[in-house]
Amino acid sequence: MANEMTTANGQPFDRASLESLMRRRMFYTPAFDIYGGVSGLYDYGPPGCALTNNIVDIWRKHFVLKENMLEVDCTMLTPYEVLKTSGHVDKFADWMCKDPKSGEIFRADHLVEEVLEARLKGDKEARGQKVEEGVEDPKKKKKKLKAITAVKLEDAVVQEYEEVLAKIDNYNGDELGELIKKYNIKNPATGNDLLPPVAFNLMFQTSIGPSSNLPGYLRPETAQGQFLNFAKLLDFNQQSMPFASASIGKSFRNEISPRAGLLRVREFLMAEIEHFVDPEGGKKHPHFDEVKDVELELLNREVQLAGKTHVETTKISKAVETGLVDNETLGYFLARIQLFLLKIGVDKTKIRFRQHMANEMAHYATDCWDAELFTSYGWIECVGCADRSAYDLTVHMKKTGAPLMVREPRKEPLTIEEFQVDINKKKFGPKFGKDGKKVEAELLALTQDMREKLSLDLKNEGKITVEVPGVGDGKVEVPQEILTIEKRTRVENVREYTPNVIEPSFGIGRIVYALCEHNYWTRAEDEARGVLSFPPTVAPTKVLIVPLSSHTDFKPFVRRLNNKLQDIGISSRVDDSGASIGKRYARNDELGTPLGITIDFQSVKDDTFTLRDRDTTRQVRAPLDDICNAILNLVNGTEQWADVAKRLPAFEGQEVE
Ligand code: AMP
Repeated sequence: MANEMTTANGQPFDRASLESLMRRRMFYTPAFDIYGGVSGLYDYGPPGCALTNNIVDIWRKHFVLKENMLEVDCTMLTPYEVLKTSGHVDKFADWMCKDPKSGEIFRADHLVEEVLEARLKGDKEARGQKVEEGVEDPKKKKKKLKAITAVKLEDAVVQEYEEVLAKIDNYNGDELGELIKKYNIKNPATGNDLLPPVAFNLMFQTSIGPSSNLPGYLRPETAQGQFLNFAKLLDFNQQSMPFASASIGKSFRNEISPRAGLLRVREFLMAEIEHFVDPEGGKKHPHFDEVKDVELELLNREVQLAGKTHVETTKISKAVETGLVDNETLGYFLARIQLFLLKIGVDKTKIRFRQHMANEMAHYATDCWDAELFTSYGWIECVGCADRSAYDLTVHMKKTGAPLMVREPRKEPLTIEEFQVDINKKKFGPKFGKDGKKVEAELLALTQDMREKLSLDLKNEGKITVEVPGVGDGKVEVPQEILTIEKRTRVENVREYTPNVIEPSFGIGRIVYALCEHNYWTRAEDEARGVLSFPPTVAPTKVLIVPLSSHTDFKPFVRRLNNKLQDIGISSRVDDSGASIGKRYARNDELGTPLGITIDFQSVKDDTFTLRDRDTTRQVRAPLDDICNAILNLVNGTEQWADVAKRLPAFEGQEVE
C-alpha cells in the first residue's frame, strides 16, 4: 500500500512537472483564462477530452453493457421542489468559517486538517525527520517552499492530532468550532481569529422561465433524475427486479474553496448508477459469485474512529459474510469498481476503500464506502458507493403521490390479521371541515400497536383522542359514530415494496487526474522526458505516424497509413515536422501515445513499417496488415506488447536524437 508518491519506475513523483505537462499539452486549462479565470472551473483540451471519452466508453462497457443497465440523460436544471423533497435544500452543505477582518472564507474541516498537518510536519522537522514540502510554481519554474515552522510537539499532542485527522470527516459544525478553539486555529495568512463555522449550501441557485417564479438549482448529482423516472424505467424493464439505471453528465457544486486542480472543481462530469434492489432477502446480487474472490484494501469505520488509518486486505465475500460490508449488492459494486479502475490503468497499490463514519454519511445513506486513490494530494475520494436505502423513492412518492414502488404477484397468497381503520365519510367531512384531510391522514398512519390500543378506547369510552399537529391544540377527539377500528383477516395476492438503492457514483475528472499521476514517469536517461503510460485502451491517441524525413516519397505512405487506421477506427496523429524522430516520439510520450509507426526508405522498397512501443521504446518491423492487426489487438487489450514483440521480428535502428 502506498504512503509516499512514487512513479511507475520508482522515482519520487514530481507533481509540478506533471501539472506543467498537462497544461502545456492542453489536457486541461483554466476556463475563461484570458479574463483571469474563475477558480474551480476548467476546460479540457484535445488530449483531456479524448482521455475522458475513452474512460467513459470503458465505463459504459464495464457497467451499462455488462448488466443491461438502463441509461438515461436527465436535465441539469432542477426545480426547487425536487431538491427540497430530496433533502438537498436543507442538508447539502459544508461548514465554512470567516475571518471577519479580511473577509476570507475557509472550509472548516479543510482548515483544521491543513493547520494540524502543518504542525505535524513542523514537529517532524524539529525531530530531524525527512519532510517533503513545497510545490514548484509552473510559471516561475522555481520551487516555492512553504514555510515549515520546526516546533517540537509533545508525544501526546502528536497522537491527538493524528487521531483528529483520521476522523476529520466525522465532525459536525459545532465540533469543528470546538477544535478550532481548542487548537487555537487562526487564519494562517493573517493570524486573525475566525468566526464559528456556519453551514453553506453547495447548490447553485437559479430561476427557470422569464418571470423568475419557478426557483431551481443546477443539479448537484445526476441521481434525482433517475429516481423520478423510476416507475417508467420499471415499466420499460417489464416490471422485472432487480435492475439498474445509469447516467453520465455534468453536476455542479459551489465548493467553498476549490483547490488541487481538477480534484475539487465547481462543475464536473459524473457517471452514476442507481441499482434498485428488493430490501427483503439480504439485498443479494445475482452475479456476486463472479466477484467473490476479488480482494480489496478496506479501511473500516471502527479503525478510523479509533484514530487509525490501517487497511485490511479482505476478500469481498468475507467482508460481506462478516457484515463489514452491509450486503451482497454493495459488495458486488465495490469489487466491480476496483476491476474498472484497474482496467483503465489505475495503480493497484494506490486504491483503498474507506467506509464512511456515521456523521460523515450523506443525509440519505445507511452505509457508504469510498474508493479512494492515492495521489500527491493524499488519499482522494474518486468513487462513492452508498446504500441510499428506500430514502429517495419514499420521499418523492410521499410528496407527489406517484407510485415509486414495485407491485409483485405473490407466489403464495399471504393471510394477514390486522387492525383496520374505517371512516364514515358522510359524517367525518361535516365534523372536521377543512381539517378533515389532516385528521384522516393521522388516523390512517396509526401503527398496528396504536390501533389495537385505540380500538379498546373506542369500545370503553366511545371515542378516541389522537394527536394532529396544526389542528386546534394539537389533540383531536374522534367519536365512535364516525370511526371503526377492528381486527380483520385480509388475503394479499400482491406484494408492494419500495426498492432500496445501491449507488456507485464516479467523479470522472478526479479519476482522470489520479490516472495521470499513476501513469506519469520520466525516462531514467533524461529527467526532462516525461511519459504518460496510459494503457492503449484509454490513451487519447493510439498511434503516431512519423515519416523519417520530409522526403516526398514518404507522403503517399503517410496518407495510406492514416486512412487505413481511420478505417479501422484507430485514432492517429501524423508528425511530419522537421524535428528528429527521437524528439517527435518524446513529444508524443508526453501525450501518452502508446504506439508509433515509422516510415523509412525500407518502407518505400518493401512496404514494411516499424512499430514502436512507448514504454520500452522497442520496435518490430512487419508488413502493413500485420502492423495494423497488432495495433488493433493492443488497442482492444487482447494482446500485450510482449506478445507482439515475440511474434513479429525485432527492429534495431532509428530512435536517434
Ligand atoms: P458524492 O456525491 O459527494 O459522494 O460525490 C460523488 C463523486 O463525485 C466523488 O466520488 C467525486 O469523485 C466526485 N466529486 C464530488 N465533488 C467533486 C468536486 N468538487 N470536484 C470534482 N469531483 C467531485
